[in-house]
Amino acid sequence: MDISYIINELGEERENYLYSVAPPIFQTAMSCFPSVEAMRQSLAKESETPFYTRGNNATTDILRKKMAALEETEDALIFASGSAAIAAAVLSVVETGDHIVCMQKPYSWTNKLLNLWLKRFGVSATMIDGTKPENYEKAIQPNTKLLFLETPNSFTFELQDIEAVVKIARKYNLTTILDNSYATPLNQKPATIGVDMVVHSATKYLAGHSDAVGGVLCGKKVHLKKIFESEFMTIGGIISPFNAWLILRGLRTLPIRMQRVAETTPKIVNFLASHPKVSKIYYPFHPSHPQFELAKKQMKAPTGQFSIELKADNMQAVERFCNNLRRFLLAASWGSYESLIFPACTLYTSENYASAPFHWSLIRFYIGLEESDALIADLEQALAQI
Ligand SMILES: *Cc1c(COP(=O)(O)O)cnc(C)c1O
Repeated sequence: MDISYIINELGEERENYLYSVAPPIFQTAMSCFPSVEAMRQSLAKESETPFYTRGNNATTDILRKKMAALEETEDALIFASGSAAIAAAVLSVVETGDHIVCMQKPYSWTNKLLNLWLKRFGVSATMIDGTKPENYEKAIQPNTKLLFLETPNSFTFELQDIEAVVKIARKYNLTTILDNSYATPLNQKPATIGVDMVVHSATKYLAGHSDAVGGVLCGKKVHLKKIFESEFMTIGGIISPFNAWLILRGLRTLPIRMQRVAETTPKIVNFLASHPKVSKIYYPFHPSHPQFELAKKQMKAPTGQFSIELKADNMQAVERFCNNLRRFLLAASWGSYESLIFPACTLYTSENYASAPFHWSLIRFYIGLEESDALIADLEQALAQI
């Protein structure tokens, strides 16, 4: 299936929708039925057909089909947020007494799920340096059920060798979940390498317009049907038809947006890497990244996120740099039109100063769809002021 077919046609039954070019928004909480028998039949396959919108909705279903095709999995489920998708995936694998191995510094709410929330239910987690796949194997205990990956991770952009970790999971008969929000299915298809479940924050590149929060979980039909009947329907973290529609609209331009950031981001990274006031770059596609070779092998093209550390005497200088940028918004997230920065010093408080997870001079960047010359000029003037 080519990408344009998936994006423009797959799941869009135009003949049923007055040949509308854009997909319709079925803003309805449920479907009704012409007879008892029709209702009975629909209820029996609730995970596949629109019956009640907490389960299925015709608009959301279009997105579901497209995401499964993009990740090359049998099925997908769409959630209200990436975190809802991650929580459902993880909860579907573990029960009291089980153990999870995860790379260090995953997305902050994944970290809280694994290390705080699940502890309450007797599930433990070991966080490892995932840049060495053997660390996953070393951390496995008799009660380990799950290996969690997020490659690259979201502030320091450390990679895990997907193939090597999948091999370990197979050897010990463990489930793997991979957060693919950084790379998108255009650049990395973990299920084709053997990862069991792939999760996304659709809020980022997939939706791509800073206007909708959403999540995706892709995997095998049998596994997702089980999740549908338990975590999905009981916790009910489902997306609204309108937000699903916004993500469908976002997907239409995903390939050209990814192409744009692949062209402009390396230019900006190169500018920053050679600037005397930048001490370190964290970008998988820069030769200074310790896993540069793995990045090129595992991901198709560069993406728009990276971090830098500034050569600054104190946190005030970092703040001054951030405040002086005009073309970069101070905001979380990535994947839309606007270039963004997320300075790690916003995580610093007087209480956690010593234990904060990142160096205070670290700033995460997302390069949006603007002209690179304008962004570089802006960086230049802000760097001149520290
Ligand atoms: C944003 C993000 C999430 C969480 O997604 P939400 O849609 O905000 O719930 C999970 N993983 C990664 C890597 C993210 O960047």
